[in-house]
Order: sequence, then structure tokens, then C-alpha cells
Amino acid sequence: MTRREFSKPVKGEMLRRASDAKGRIRCEGCGLDVTGKAIEFDHTIPEALVLDKSRALTAADGRLLGKACCHDPKTHKHDVPGIARAKRLEQTRVARAPSRNPLPGSKASGGKRKMNGTVERRTCPAAPLSERSIYPAPSRAR
Ligand SMILES: [Zn+2]
Repeated sequence: MTRREFSKPVKGEMLRRASDAKGRIRCEGCGLDVTGKAIEFDHTIPEALVLDKSRALTAADGRLLGKACCHDPKTHKHDVPGIARAKRLEQTRVARAPSRNPLPGSKASGGKRKMNGTVERRTCPAAPLSERSIYPAPSRAR
């Protein structure tokens, strides 16, 4: 899924929210005056961690942060490692998903492995197998 960005009206709303009575822009992370400095419209929840991206972003989904004071430290020290960890955990979850085609005698197929290495297989209790000889029955006619 593609990354969602804040629309111009939403950015304007965030800018108004971050402005004080004197028209100065304040970083919403630390309160520093960032008027004339580089600012970023930060996704409060990193966009890479959001699964349902069908809803449009609102001003409540982001904060206006100073690039140097809050955005870069948050992104590089907190978000990027968190996103990498989420990807690793997802890979582990996918790798551990039960097989759709389990090996006979494996736990996934229902067989139980005993301590001595043999495998106890599921048997059908309703229809026990009849014993058959591998040699044909002797004929009575001589
Ligand atoms: Zn800041």
C-alpha cells in the first residue's frame, strides 16, 4: 500500500494549531519557536506500521515538528528501529505459520513423536485393518 501524505488543507489546519497568538510557529513536540526553520508534518503513528490505509489522514493523525529538534531524532531513533522490528516479527510469524502440506508423522499432521524417536500415528478406530497373508491360501484340490 502506498504511503499516505497530509493534504494541503490538513497541513494548514496543523499549522494553525501549532501557531501561537503572536503568529509564531511552535514545534508541537518541544514547544521551540521554529518560525522560519525547517518543519515536518509528522505521522504520529509511523505510516509503515499502519495496515488499514483506506481512511484519509486528518490533523489529529499528525503533529507539526521542528526538523532538527524533534522530527529527525524521533524518526531515526524511534520510528525506523520500530518499523524494522515489526518487519522482523512479521517475517517470523509468516515463517511459523502451520504448513498446508505437513509431512506424515509430523506434529502438524496429527502424529505424536514419542521420546524414543518413534512416531505414534493416528489410526481409524472404526475399521481396524484385517491381517492378510502375503502367500496365497493353499488350494485344497489335488
Ligand atoms: Zn521540537
